[in-house]
Amino acid sequence: MENFICIQCGTQFDATATPPLRCTICEDERQFVRYGGQQCTTLERLTTDHHNRFEDEAPQLLGIGTEPEFAIGQRALLLQSPGGNLLWDCISLLDDKTVAEVKTRGGIRAIAISHPHFYSSIIEWADHFDAQIFLHAADRHWVMRKSPRIQFWEGTTFSLWDGLTLINCGGHFEGGTVLHWPAGANGKGALLTGDIITVVQDRRYVSFMRSYPNLIPLGAAAIHRILERTDPFPFDQIYGGWWKANVLSDAKAAVTRSAQRYLLAIGQL
Ligand SMILES: [Zn+2]
Ligand SMILES: [Zn+2]
Repeated sequence: MENFICIQCGTQFDATATPPLRCTICEDERQFVRYGGQQCTTLERLTTDHHNRFEDEAPQLLGIGTEPEFAIGQRALLLQSPGGNLLWDCISLLDDKTVAEVKTRGGIRAIAISHPHFYSSIIEWADHFDAQIFLHAADRHWVMRKSPRIQFWEGTTFSLWDGLTLINCGGHFEGGTVLHWPAGANGKGALLTGDIITVVQDRRYVSFMRSYPNLIPLGAAAIHRILERTDPFPFDQIYGGWWKANVLSDAKAAVTRSAQRYLLAIGQL
């Protein structure tokens, strides 16, 4: 029995004797089945031809991403906080070097994930670091590998420790979550967003989509909901889901002007 990993989205499945012939995440309209059809790998195989790169994205915020790029290509963020470290979003590859690096930074108290595209191999990470996992209950049917470590939270916000707060924004996924880090940006606050609020190439802006690879936009109600849910929280920076996809100043205004531009483009302003 093996916990196979989908090559296209990086999701690890419940243990099976043979690789799954279909991936629910990739067959959804927000992802895609790769050219050539469904393929899987294993964590062991991944460790032979890939490794992880570590780079500080900010003080107390370590980026961890896989090279060569694997699956969706996101980097996870290890947020170091006095009450314990939080792994924000996750990647499929966990190897000995990564375990050692994370241990030198104090390990992982809990893992929180923005949305199902980044569930990846959360159970491997959680088991290794004896960590709890927080996922929004609205996306529970997208969990491909079950574990008693997963705690599903409901509602619009969920408080962790040191003022860290999970905020359900919806949009890209119904359970789409961002993290508010009050100590980020030198105490001005930061949001960690995955692609629930995605930082675009022009880093003065962000955007919001139902599907990024298939270019399916969101409606006005979803955009307004994202603005309403983030409005009570002060933040000057946004750390998105990929290396250097960060808004490093005036991020709240960037979200507002990006939402206005989006609503204008879909004829709703
Ligand atoms: Zn997949
Ligand atoms: Zn996504």
